[in-house]
Amino acid sequence: MRIGSIIHGEERNEETRETIDIIAPHGQKKIAELALATTEDLNDAVKDCYDTFHHTMKYMPAHERADILRTTADMLEGQAEEFVETIVHEAGKPLVYARDEIGRSIQVIRFASELVKHMTGEVLPMDAAVGGEHRLGLVKRRPLGVVGAITPFNFPLNLALHKIAPAIAGGNTIVFKPAEKTPISAYNLVRLFQAAGLPDGVLNLVQGTGEEVGGPLVEHDNVHKISFTGSLPVGRTILETAGFKKVTLELGSNSPNIVFDDATIKDTVTELVKGAFAFSGQACISAQRVYVHSSIYDEFLQEYVKQTEALTIGDPSDEDTDIGPMITQEEAERAKEWIDDAARKGATIATGGTLDGNVLSPTIMTDVQDHMKIIAEEVFAPIVSVIPFKTEEEVVEWANNSVYGLQAGVFTKDINRAMRVAEHLEIGGVWINEISTYRQDNHPYGGVKQSGIGKEGVKYAIEDTTEIKFIGAKLEP
Ligand code: NAP
Repeated sequence: MRIGSIIHGEERNEETRETIDIIAPHGQKKIAELALATTEDLNDAVKDCYDTFHHTMKYMPAHERADILRTTADMLEGQAEEFVETIVHEAGKPLVYARDEIGRSIQVIRFASELVKHMTGEVLPMDAAVGGEHRLGLVKRRPLGVVGAITPFNFPLNLALHKIAPAIAGGNTIVFKPAEKTPISAYNLVRLFQAAGLPDGVLNLVQGTGEEVGGPLVEHDNVHKISFTGSLPVGRTILETAGFKKVTLELGSNSPNIVFDDATIKDTVTELVKGAFAFSGQACISAQRVYVHSSIYDEFLQEYVKQTEALTIGDPSDEDTDIGPMITQEEAERAKEWIDDAARKGATIATGGTLDGNVLSPTIMTDVQDHMKIIAEEVFAPIVSVIPFKTEEEVVEWANNSVYGLQAGVFTKDINRAMRVAEHLEIGGVWINEISTYRQDNHPYGGVKQSGIGKEGVKYAIEDTTEIKFIGAKLEP
């Protein structure tokens, strides 16, 4: 299989192009060859999106946008297993989580198709201002124009759709730059929209490196918004170079989960095993710091180790595999080095900590300190630290002691305590009796501090890909 970029419906995949091999994380076999886009392709893609916006998309009625989105969702549902298989192969994501991603992706497109018809404005009471009598004031939502969507490898379909579907709903065109590591899902998604009737030039795909096409997309004057999901260092560069455009940044985290003494230990552990180790912890809201009340700490830790050691490590395409490979060998080695670094500084490996190729065994750390990388930075690997606490005040302070603030989980039967803690956490979203790793696609989602800027969640992303326009009229009395 050899794939390239798609600009105005045409694939750019000539023999003369520079290529990279796409290697499956499990088994290390070559599964595709990617013909890389150049800065020139990027400029063509932006120009085409710009023209298509002004000639076509700007005039496409809401019912037509809704129909295209609905058809795309129905077609994705019909081809769900093919999309699942692609994610399993190119990302090494275990089957159960790949299926979950496709199910959520279908819902994201459906949410967008439903919301298109409810993008209402308002009529202002102009006579509220002295001298404003006999005037009409209308507030409408208008599309921004060209949206640049830059996405990571870990949810190659759903996180792309969190940008593309709302942008289409809002009436924009999109230049889509997916992660180089997961280009097949992106390619198939663009083909799917084409088959569902999306006009050529509304969604252009540029498959190139961050440096060659990502940077120029961010800096391009004819792009009106950048919506980026990825790491903090790249997010920081984007913020510095985007210039005069809207920017949404969905970045990383070191999510805290707080377990009070009245939580049900076994069930909470079961949830936090998933929370820390789903897709080998390669999720931005993966449970990384688990604070447990000291009165239940020993029992909790024992149960956490027991349930973690019962996980099945294996081929991601097997039905019963819980833990597969990490995305690359380098990433797995980087994570292993962080474990060893913490151990050298006094931390204890309660379970896991072994590397076999690019498979890192699910790891629980104790006796950790705030300055260790596994606490202070985003681990993005199957590593969780369990930390005892005594008081509500101290645990809130510890949880807030981070440059990040994306999502958190709080486990307690005391609703007053839960609400108090939720209020005091400096974090974009707080779940009560649910893991930080849980996300629904219709709630506002996005971090504070260095976890990001702006919100996704379909309704909120539509608002962010549109702007308010005021039209006023002076009427005859
Ligand atoms: P990444 O390395 O930051 O890459 C993300 C995207 O940015 C890729 O498409 C990448 O292209 C591109 N890129 C790289 N350099 C660029 C530049 N200078 N200008 C423009 N684009 C550039 O992230 P990743 O490793 O794929 O994903 C993991 C990160 O994503 C983690 O930090 C995780 O927390 C974060 N994440 C956040 C959320 C959220 O919703 N908050 C969700 C999922 C993941 P190449 O692939 O070509 O390098």
